[in-house]
Amino acid sequence: DLVIGVLALQGDVREHLAALAECDVIGRPVRRPEEVAEIDALVIPGGESTTMSKLALAFEVYEPVRKRLAEGMPAYGSCAGMIMLADEVLDGRPDQKTFGGIGMTVRRNAFGRQVDSFEAPVDIAGVEGEPVHAIFIRAPWVESVTGDVEVLGRVTAGPATGRMVAVRQGNLLATSFHPELTGDLRVHRLFVDMVRDQAS
Ligand code: GLN
Repeated sequence: DLVIGVLALQGDVREHLAALAECDVIGRPVRRPEEVAEIDALVIPGGESTTMSKLALAFEVYEPVRKRLAEGMPAYGSCAGMIMLADEVLDGRPDQKTFGGIGMTVRRNAFGRQVDSFEAPVDIAGVEGEPVHAIFIRAPWVESVTGDVEVLGRVTAGPATGRMVAVRQGNLLATSFHPELTGDLRVHRLFVDMVRDQAS
């Protein structure tokens, strides 16, 4: 059976574990280097990317995760997790590190302080049916992507119209928003399907 880790240094770990359980896969919190070796895929939760970056170094999972991602382990990052998968970060802290893997530049807290948080319907390529109800909380957006990155979703209303908020590169998936907070499992199922395809 597939074991999908959730990086459990900081952030909304429990919500992702609950969503994975509902998708009928084994979700497992990961916070030690040995645990990084025991998973088939990794979810990086929402939270605070500068803190997560510090804790990843302190808990000595930074290098092991980087290595597994470089070897092709599938991963999904929501919000702060998206930032952790970005090759480049704008408006980050000088010492902030990411795992990288997706050829994109993300801008932290991009939607601005006036609209710290908002909700909007977003169409996601590969997700059937109604648009996903996306919850953005001090979210990043994707400022630019390399040619290897597939843009799966953009904001379609309001001042941020057109901004990229869901992307995929190979086995790596990232969203600016938090499907783990909505009870809608379609984005998690998309990721689980990616993991199964890779495993088979
Ligand atoms: N602003 C946070 C960061 O920079 C992300 C917010 C979130 O994950 N909800 O990491």
